[in-house]
Amino acid sequence: MGAQLIDGKAYAQAVRTRVGLRVRELVAETGQTPGLAVVLVGHDPASEIYVRSKGKQAVEAGMASFEHRLPAEISAETLLTLIHQLNEDTLVHGFLVQLPLPDHLDARAVINAISPQKDVDGFHTSNVGMVGTGQEAIVPCTPLGCMMMLRTLHDDFRGKTALVIGHSNVVGKPMARMLLNADCTVMVAHKSSTNIPQLARMADIIVAAAGVPGLVKADWLKPGATVIDVGINRVPAPDLGPDKTRITGDVDIAARDVAGAIAPVPGGVGPMTIACLLANTLSAYCHLLGLPDRPISLEHKDPT
Ligand code: NAD
Repeated sequence: MGAQLIDGKAYAQAVRTRVGLRVRELVAETGQTPGLAVVLVGHDPASEIYVRSKGKQAVEAGMASFEHRLPAEISAETLLTLIHQLNEDTLVHGFLVQLPLPDHLDARAVINAISPQKDVDGFHTSNVGMVGTGQEAIVPCTPLGCMMMLRTLHDDFRGKTALVIGHSNVVGKPMARMLLNADCTVMVAHKSSTNIPQLARMADIIVAAAGVPGLVKADWLKPGATVIDVGINRVPAPDLGPDKTRITGDVDIAARDVAGAIAPVPGGVGPMTIACLLANTLSAYCHLLGLPDRPISLEHKDPT
């Protein structure tokens, strides 16, 4: 029997709908609209598309959206001045600086200049440390989306074993920390690991975030395992015509014959990232306004 395919599009829509409903209730109650600001430095085409989507989806959820576009050659001082202004701006409850930044800017210093309370990407060292020590904090959007999906399939992570493939600060490490916080037994593999197939065969849950097309093979999987494919890889697609490409994930298509459930690429976790950004913005707004509310969080197991 083939794996259950997790429909990330429907899932993300459900999260956005819930965020939107809650935003409208809270705006009616407080008279204040949650504000999300995005800072874009330079003209990276992928970042441009992503920033436009964030703005559009924030407005659809009833939030105010602010965009700050800065030239690629901006000085660190000017960028930090803008960040300090956004930290103080009462109309902005969450903001992020779109990565990657041009080479002359120190991304870590830029991220750490953001107020941790408004750091809706969850990349500030303070939020990373809090999640790492099991405290409630803003968590990065993509692994939060993975965790929300996993919670619909697993009532309890205790006694389960997970393998996270990839150990970046954006996906792999926060994913592993969240699973560990849920008392899952967690293994983390990366480009220097030499025994990934053996580790994978022990895992009830695999989150693949390496950026290597088709890395995870069907014969790596424990039958019935849950697999979340995070990889986004553009590969040649000669069947579509010369010079054509398609997006593919880190999990080989044949894995669908062995897994119990898969969040595939495309169609899986991708749309959850912006949905979770909106959920994080709503959480930041509630926190800043002192509202005793944890609107869309890991406690919500099933946003559908
Ligand atoms: P990254 O390049 O920062 O990190 C890649 C990680 O994979 C590293 O830890 C590296 O050690 C590991 N790795 C590389 N090759 C490996 C191999 N052969 N075996 C095992 N591990 C290997 O990338 P990232 O930002 O963490 O993103 C990972 C993937 O997820 C990329 O394809 C990216 O496009 C995708 N991504 C998707 C979303 C989304 O769906 N919304 C969001 C973020 C990233």
